[in-house]
Amino acid sequence: MAGLFLQNNVYLIKGILPKGITAGFTDRNISGRDIPRAVETIKAAGGIFFNECLYLNQVHGSDIVFVGRQTVVQEYLNASADGIVLEKPAVAGIIRTADCIPLFFAGRSSSLAGILHIGWKPAEQGIIDKLSEVLKTRGVEDFSDFVFILGPGLRKECFEVKSDFLKIEPFLPFVHLRPQKSAAQYSGHTEFSVEKGRLFFDLAGFIKVKLMQNNANPQNILDLGICSFCSNEKVFSFRKEKTEDRTVSFIIKKTAPPDNNNTA
Ligand SMILES: [Zn+2]
Repeated sequence: MAGLFLQNNVYLIKGILPKGITAGFTDRNISGRDIPRAVETIKAAGGIFFNECLYLNQVHGSDIVFVGRQTVVQEYLNASADGIVLEKPAVAGIIRTADCIPLFFAGRSSSLAGILHIGWKPAEQGIIDKLSEVLKTRGVEDFSDFVFILGPGLRKECFEVKSDFLKIEPFLPFVHLRPQKSAAQYSGHTEFSVEKGRLFFDLAGFIKVKLMQNNANPQNILDLGICSFCSNEKVFSFRKEKTEDRTVSFIIKKTAPPDNNNTA
């Protein structure tokens, strides 16, 4: 059975990613403000095993940390970057969000997995094309072998933007004009208005098209469809709450199973 399973304050994503990959995100009882507690909670949920964890100083850019089998994870703790690619097993790659979309990914045969922090700025700066470049350095030609999952974040009905989004050309197909409504109908959505309407950005739609431009199979792109604003009882939303709390998303490659080890 595939889907989301809430276990001890962690939503585990099951039955979607390739075998040997564990991923999920924390609920509102856990915040990215307290990383040690979040890490302990993730470990406890479903008995997930990992030796190390890597979290970043997320700067809304497009840099990605590659964690090779020999990488000393400690050296990259709090590195200024917005993505993690894991070759090394038993490392929890962690991204913190409150409206931005965490993008989980894992290869079926390449043994690489990871997670990106995608708000509009990393999207504009090409973090998905950057991922493609990082994978190419590991001999992965494109995204065709990969499964992608879009985690919780602001969806198009709630992602109101200013008219300057109309100047970002790659975003144009994903910016929608909607009729002006009363302030009451947009309670909480008191952002900006353009003449005769309001603009909304479909970040998830942009991400999916960028993935497909890099040859991802549409059948291997799963959108959990959880809007952080609308599903604020599950996850944090900066736009709704103006909070410093963050939802903690993670992905882990399990260590090789014992039958791969002839010393047993
Ligand atoms: Zn929403």
